[in-house]
Amino acid sequence: KRLVLIGPPGSGKGTQSPIIKDDYCLCHLATGDMLRGAVAAKTPLGIKAKEAMDKGELVSDDLVVGIIDEAMKKPSCEKGFILDGFPRTVVQAEKLDEMLGKQGTKIDKVLNFAVDDSILEERITGRWIHPSSGRSYHTKFAPPKVPGVDDVTGDPLIQRKDDTPEVLKSRLDAFHKQTEPVIDYYAKKGVLANLPAEKPPKEVTTEVQKVLS
Ligand code: ADP
Ligand code: ADP
Ligand code: ADP
Repeated sequence: KRLVLIGPPGSGKGTQSPIIKDDYCLCHLATGDMLRGAVAAKTPLGIKAKEAMDKGELVSDDLVVGIIDEAMKKPSCEKGFILDGFPRTVVQAEKLDEMLGKQGTKIDKVLNFAVDDSILEERITGRWIHPSSGRSYHTKFAPPKVPGVDDVTGDPLIQRKDDTPEVLKSRLDAFHKQTEPVIDYYAKKGVLANLPAEKPPKEVTTEVQKVLS
């Protein structure tokens, strides 16, 4: 399967991705995780992306399209992939169609994580992540077994620098202005599925499985 996950920051894309990935043996490509890795490693890509990310603005289309083009060549992506956080603009969606067109493939399904803006601040400010895997926890909704520690590796968890109420405002603004048109783009192609993503995590998983079965 070739899947795209779209939703505002904190809508649960990163939480559901590992489950979908294991159920269908797909690779999980999260542009946000990759960009944070590049920023931490101070690569040329990271240096270019950092300023926009800190402000909660989108990184340039060329940078992220380049990352995805490269990442999709991995052997683990041959059976299919989950794009988490990409495409976020109509230009990115068109470039993706072009890339897939060259391989004679296309997107099978787009999952739209529909969540009202009002619940996102609590989700975002309580989020703790394991940076190298991208796993996320929540102090209230999905606490780790030991506070501040990743369940799988025992590594310390961190809070994202952009997970503040102020930066969330610009990220939501970018979502409404630049990413919502992508939802229409896929609706017109007949591949869109809307998920009630305000439900508890397990119920969202059930909804995802319904859509994909
Ligand atoms: P969230 O999990 O909150 O939806 P991400 O981790 O996906 O956020 O993205 C974090 C930041 O990385 C974004 O605010 C943006 O600056 C940048 N980013 C991630 N994906 C893209 C993309 N497809 N296009 C442009 N910028 C992106
Ligand atoms: P995204 O990748 O879309 O930005 P995440 O999956 O990282 O979102 O979820 C944001 C925060 O909300 C995390 O702390 C996560 O543990 C928590 N969370 C995810 N899904 C739910 C849900 N259905 N109900 C409550 N909290 C959730
Ligand atoms: P480049 O030198 O081409 O800019 P990247 O910095 O993008 O290379 O790193 C290559 C790959 O390794 C990317 O897919 C990126 O997500 C991943 N990566 C590197 N460092 C980390 C990290 N600390 N956490 C998660 N992923 C990382």
